[in-house]
Amino acid sequence: MKPLVKVLAVGVVAAGVGVAAGRMLAPQPKPIPTEPLGKLQYGNDLFAQGKLLSQPVDEMTRYKLETEGQKPFAIIVSCADSRVPPELIFNQGLGDLFVVRVAGNIVNAENLASIEYAVEHLKTPLIVVLGHTHCGAVKAAVSGKHLEGHLPQLVAHIEPVVKQLHATHPHLKGDALIERVVEENVRHTLQTIYQRSDIVRHYYEQGKLEFAGGVYHLREGKVEWLKLPEPFDSSEEKSASSTGSSAAHAADAHSSHP
Ligand SMILES: [Zn+2]
Repeated sequence: MKPLVKVLAVGVVAAGVGVAAGRMLAPQPKPIPTEPLGKLQYGNDLFAQGKLLSQPVDEMTRYKLETEGQKPFAIIVSCADSRVPPELIFNQGLGDLFVVRVAGNIVNAENLASIEYAVEHLKTPLIVVLGHTHCGAVKAAVSGKHLEGHLPQLVAHIEPVVKQLHATHPHLKGDALIERVVEENVRHTLQTIYQRSDIVRHYYEQGKLEFAGGVYHLREGKVEWLKLPEPFDSSEEKSASSTGSSAAHAADAHSSHP
């Protein structure tokens, strides 16, 4: 080997060793989850850290979605609030989320039909109800003030939650009460979806549908996942059994109960 070639060869080998050593020393990136709730949690972590991955919106992607149809992996029932856009806060792209948005993340017949469409026709395997901090619809329900137009019809969906909390937790007032109504309203909406929809119950009983509920914190950008009552705790059982530790139960203790 000529001297120059030899030097170059040694340099390449040395660089290779350096890269290999660097690889060994660098922290291993966490694998991207493939199951629906894990994908949402992963995407939200990226969002909260300001590290959004870009999502394809090019013509080929759009063409594929048009010709092959949509296959969203999660239904998100969330508030219409402009600060809580599901695709952004979960870092998802076109065709990923089937989003049903209405102020106060309540459910009425039309929303329920939308959810049923996704469950039955698109085979979407996860329903997430997402509340958020500083929710105007919840504040309106808690205030009990007179409302104009169609607002009373909307707020009427949240009022039973407020009434229930007044009865069970009379000491709760102000921001503490609003925070709690936000959480309980998520559980209430899940319960309503489950109770009112034969289709949802059928898919759940077949093991083809899971539920999750969360509260998005406006400033932190993080979704706090709530402990849910039966039958909505399937994802929690799954994570407890997959980790084989008591971590999930410790997290439960942190979550508030009604
Ligand atoms: Zn809201």
